Amino acid sequence: TNFPGDATRNNQPRQTPGVLYSLVNPTPVNKVSLLAWSEELAKKLGIQKPETQQEIDVLGGNFVAETMQPYAACYAGHQFGNWAGQLGDGRAITLGEWQAPNHKTYELQLKGGGPTPYSRRADGRAVLRSSVREYLMSEAMHYLGIPTTRALSLVSTGEGVWRDMFYNGNPQEEPGAIVMRVAPSFLRFGNFEMLAARKEQENLQNLVNWTIEKFYPHIEGENKLLQWFQEVVERTAFLMAEWLRVGFVHGVMNTDNMSVLGLTIDYGPFSFLDDYDPHFTPNTTDLPGRRYAFGQQGAIAYWNLGCLASAIAPLFTDTEELVKALENYGEIFLEKYYTMMGNKLGLDEVKPEDTNLVAQFEETLAELKPDMTIFYQLLINLPSDLETEQAASNYFKESLYDELNQTEMKKLFTLIQNYQLRLEKNGISQAEKTQKMQQANPRFVLRNYLLHQAIEGLERGDDTLFVKLQAALKEPYSGKFDEFFVKRPDWASQKAGCSM
Ligand code: AMP
Ligand code: MG
Ligand code: MG
Repeated sequence: TNFPGDATRNNQPRQTPGVLYSLVNPTPVNKVSLLAWSEELAKKLGIQKPETQQEIDVLGGNFVAETMQPYAACYAGHQFGNWAGQLGDGRAITLGEWQAPNHKTYELQLKGGGPTPYSRRADGRAVLRSSVREYLMSEAMHYLGIPTTRALSLVSTGEGVWRDMFYNGNPQEEPGAIVMRVAPSFLRFGNFEMLAARKEQENLQNLVNWTIEKFYPHIEGENKLLQWFQEVVERTAFLMAEWLRVGFVHGVMNTDNMSVLGLTIDYGPFSFLDDYDPHFTPNTTDLPGRRYAFGQQGAIAYWNLGCLASAIAPLFTDTEELVKALENYGEIFLEKYYTMMGNKLGLDEVKPEDTNLVAQFEETLAELKPDMTIFYQLLINLPSDLETEQAASNYFKESLYDELNQTEMKKLFTLIQNYQLRLEKNGISQAEKTQKMQQANPRFVLRNYLLHQAIEGLERGDDTLFVKLQAALKEPYSGKFDEFFVKRPDWASQKAGCSM
């Protein structure tokens, strides 16, 4: 399909009605130096590690091969619940599509490659801090088994970028960097919303058709469009359950940050939970509303799917089925959520009466706020003889940030008793149960403070922690990296990350 694009290669900020993308070249930087390379991903893509400066320059936008047609996509979105109009790739430039040995195609995209028509008042650049975060975290999510865009490389640019990180009118110069992101497609709900808002019916129809043909080729027959939406609902619901499984908070679930392939996309002020707090948001601009807090994510995905449904509604003669497909989200999400929780708890299956137990886990954890990762690890090896409140709280002590009072000790004990009663009726062997739990509960998560320390290290030229984290994130379910199996230290309260 030849989608209409803007071929002027003019990167002045502007509205671009009538087109789905704008051709634009990356703006060269001072000096591209390779900081990290994802060897496994490179193998999968059939790309050799760059060695010459010219090859490294590709990763920073300083060299554009003749076969590349760099472009920035035009999309819109709802931000924090409000229609934001045209947004687009303001600092992401797709170099082109790469065919891997597995015959699948992948878009290679530079994040921080310089201004595009969609940069609005911003500079099109990314700082080392946010780039390290995206590079490590997208790879971490991949190895956790969670659908995500990936990162092939991280380069420094040898240039400074000015950022007002604390929003206090006191910008600082920070080192610049560029991540090469990789995904089958970076299409967002917002790409469809843009065309709908502009009433570009034909473009919208073409984009939907192309998306189905290329990324949902198994969808056939009548009602392709409806089936496609149903599958987007399904994938999105699954993704939300997966985020909840590992304690991931995205932080900016605007519709322009929602992948139409059900991938985790646009890593900004995300964080893993340390202490279990459903109200936690790592996004300082999301206070006091906490729209994108950990426990809100399942519901927000529904709201966002509503935006996608509205966008494609003009393509339906009768929207009744579309509305039904949207409304099914709640049930689909809960089904996936309970399956996921059943795995975390090592249950043979989640029977209707088990939902009470799941709810009791949620409530008790929200009240006691233990470290989520450590709590579930301890749960895997729960001794069967924790016969007093004191014994139970002693056992979980390693995961607790605060000492428990009497009421809390009682709560924990009751929970553990109910859980053990349920386990007595479990229809799988102890070994199967343990295996299930080990596969559902990560032992290593890329905690915000670790990222913070790794970045500080890199900024002073010490990559020790950065290198260690790259190794640890590849085996999140193993005990190999137990030096990181500790609670967040006191100095690093669960606070905001930063996306800019
Ligand atoms: P985000 O909150 O990161 O999803 O970004 C929202 C919008 O702002 C997107 O259109 C981004 O491309 C754009 N944007 C964010 N940071 C920059 C930047 N430094 N330069 C240009 N555009 C940006
Ligand atoms: Mg975004
Ligand atoms: Mg972004």
